[in-house]
Amino acid sequence: MKRIGLIGGMSWESSAQYYAIINRAVRDRLGGAHSAEMLLYSVDFGEIERLQHDGDWSSLTARMVDAARHLEAGGADFVLICSNTMHLMADEIAAAIGVPLLHVVDPTAAAITRAGLKRVGLLGTAFTMEKAFYRDRLAAAGLEPLIPDDDDRREVHRVIYEELVAGKIEAASRAVYHDVIARLVERGAGAIVLGCTEIMLLVDQSDSAVPLFDTTSLHALAAVDLALG
Ligand code: GLU
Repeated sequence: MKRIGLIGGMSWESSAQYYAIINRAVRDRLGGAHSAEMLLYSVDFGEIERLQHDGDWSSLTARMVDAARHLEAGGADFVLICSNTMHLMADEIAAAIGVPLLHVVDPTAAAITRAGLKRVGLLGTAFTMEKAFYRDRLAAAGLEPLIPDDDDRREVHRVIYEELVAGKIEAASRAVYHDVIARLVERGAGAIVLGCTEIMLLVDQSDSAVPLFDTTSLHALAAVDLALG
């Protein structure tokens, strides 16, 4: 079994999901008491969030590169960033280490393509929805990403930072996401990408008329596939 390296703590609420999904899948595949070989480098998200909102992406890149190098030095055979947003600097991180980086968009896009879908609504932080890095990678995989309008993006972003990363799951916010998803579907989305690793804590398939693609699960399961070969 290959050793999985996780850059986590962004937030730890979702890293805990990665940890559980990966271990559960290894147990299901290998049986008995089997679990994953895994290293987790968990950051202080209070600092990360401040740097994000200050737009200090070069400091954030340095932090992520440092975390990835620690994982490699600790024996990780490959690395995952347990945050969609922090894939903004995925290329720099990949270039700084000698082991592969498993990009969150790749298993996500592959699953959507396998389902025969193309036009996808994207939910995530404002950084993920508005900056080009994420949509470009979806488009490069042959998909047509669609983002919510200004007001909806503001709400989706607010709920992530004010509630989900703090472990707050509110029925009112779930209703907000339900409506944002419905508006994306009205505009032609045939699938919805939960492009933030905490959104799966808030919504499930019953909130959407079209298939949901949860990046946390897809990314974690792709790590298991790679680890088990
Ligand atoms: N976990 C989130 C994501 O997948 C947001 C937290 C962060 O900005 O890293 O984008």
